[in-house]
Amino acid sequence: MTPLSMHEELPFDEATTPPHVSTGDLPVAADVRALVTEAYERYRHHGSGDVADYIPALAQADPDLFGIAVVGPWGRSFEIGDVTAGFSIQSVSKPFVFALVCDTLGYEAARVRLGVNSTGFPFDSLMAIELNAQRTMNPLVNAGALATTSLVPGATAGEKWEAIRQRLSAFAGRELLVDDEVYASESATNLRNQGIAHLLRSYDRLFFDPDETTDLYTRQCSLEVTVHDLAVMAATLANGGVNPVTQETVIGPGVCRRVLAVMASAGLYELSGDWLYQIGVPGKSGVSGGIITVAPGKGGLATYSPPLDEAGNSVRGQLATKYLSERLGLNLFASAPSDGPPVQF
Ligand code: GLU
Repeated sequence: MTPLSMHEELPFDEATTPPHVSTGDLPVAADVRALVTEAYERYRHHGSGDVADYIPALAQADPDLFGIAVVGPWGRSFEIGDVTAGFSIQSVSKPFVFALVCDTLGYEAARVRLGVNSTGFPFDSLMAIELNAQRTMNPLVNAGALATTSLVPGATAGEKWEAIRQRLSAFAGRELLVDDEVYASESATNLRNQGIAHLLRSYDRLFFDPDETTDLYTRQCSLEVTVHDLAVMAATLANGGVNPVTQETVIGPGVCRRVLAVMASAGLYELSGDWLYQIGVPGKSGVSGGIITVAPGKGGLATYSPPLDEAGNSVRGQLATKYLSERLGLNLFASAPSDGPPVQF
């Protein structure tokens, strides 16, 4: 008898939110405010890490910038620090473009084409492509992200771009625009990503023209956001795909939970296992210094601080997120022993 594959699914109605979910609530607003303030004060003068410089425009970022934002499931937000500073979204765009593609193809077809396992290699690794028969391992490192962008709906690059821009704007609840300086700077230096796109094309694992795909991907990474925008985008993923500020349904609940699963396994590059071990919630970082963290049912947390560790993750962002995950009760694996009377089943 053929064993039941874990991919043979029970029918899942995208339109209906399941009646039972596994999550609770954030602490009361005054506690969230106090803890976010404490996290900010604790780490604002932390000095380690280096600002990314492989994209020349990113090297100009002020290393002292630091902002934290939390958005809860009713759209209520609390933020502190450099919350109006604009920066390019970079890799934090990847889960949202993956969500768009899942919405178009279905999350199962997207999994088959792109993969959902972590690579154990840096985000722009060519080794990961050569060593894996499927070539792309997941949509959150560059090979899989380029393949994901190539699958965005639209017959032309222009149509695909509008689909990306509009959907990411719906996640953020406002119209996002490209930072032209970052776009020009990355376009002039993205030879490695061009190489990855052509390599994937040679393996038949890219589904649109390689040069146009790389250009779309570069534009997607250059969309300008604030830490508040990222927290709203994260909160939409924490809220079953409904933007808690605009109330717009941006993606269905079935896609939403798959996007979070991939973020949990691959969102922090080759340090994704460490992140899950320490912080216990899905996250995604980008080389401009943003990190989003999604606590399903509870809300979205975003941090912005440009200095990065060696894997490309914001140092202050990781410290503040770890502090807040523990104190706000975000860790999905945390439980407390029951203090109720034993029940006889
Ligand atoms: N646009 C950047 C690149 O492809 C994104 C990298 C990142 O944020 O991880 O190099």
